[in-house]
Amino acid sequence: MRIVLLGPPGVGKGTQASRIRERLGVPHLSTGDMLREAVRLGTGPGQAARAIMESGDLVPDALVGEMISERMSRDDARGGFVLDGFPRTEAQVEILDGILASLGTRLDRAVLLQAPESEIVSRISLRRSCPACGSVYHLRAQPPRKDGICDRCGAALVQRADDAEDIVRARLAVYREQTAPVAEIYLRRGLLREVDATGPADAVAANVALVLDGATAPGAAA
Ligand code: ADP
Ligand code: AMP
Repeated sequence: MRIVLLGPPGVGKGTQASRIRERLGVPHLSTGDMLREAVRLGTGPGQAARAIMESGDLVPDALVGEMISERMSRDDARGGFVLDGFPRTEAQVEILDGILASLGTRLDRAVLLQAPESEIVSRISLRRSCPACGSVYHLRAQPPRKDGICDRCGAALVQRADDAEDIVRARLAVYREQTAPVAEIYLRRGLLREVDATGPADAVAANVALVLDGATAPGAAA
């Protein structure tokens, strides 16, 4: 299955993308994770993206497009993928259309996760991230076994610089202005399904599974 996960920062896209990866066996392609890794490694794209990401703005479409195009053309993405954090602008929808056309394939479903802004701000303020392996925790809903330490790799957990409240407000404004129109495009194409993301992660995952299973049912509208 080829899936796009949409929704504001902090709504739970990464959390649900991991569940989809486990359930369907498709790779989880997160442009945010790829960019953070590029920043950590100090690559050219990482150096270009660093300050922009810290300000809460979007990095240039072309930079993200090249990164995701290279990633989507790898063998493990041939049978499907779940995209998390891309596309984020109307121009990126066109970039994705071009990549899919060149691969001779198309999207099966776009899933829009939604939650009130107060819940999003609360989730982000309690998010802790592993700078080494990218694992994500929540101090109340998904705490690490040992305080401040990544379960998976043992590194010290951090709060992302762009998870500071003033930057989160800026990111939410960017989402409303530049990314919300992306959902409209997929709505017009008949690919969009909306899922309430306010409940516990398991309940949200069950609802995401329902709308995805609908996409593979015989005779399902594309
Ligand atoms: P996104 O990828 O959309 O930015 P994340 O998946 O990183 O969002 O989730 C943001 C924060 O909220 C993380 O700390 C995560 O552990 C937590 N979280 C995700 N889904 C839920 C949920 N359903 N209920 C409570 N907390 C959640
Ligand atoms: P995320 O991890 O998805 O919340 O992304 C963190 C930051 O990375 C964003 O605030 C942007 O600065 C940058 N970013 C991630 N994905 C994209 C994208 N598709 N287009 C532009 N910038 C992106």
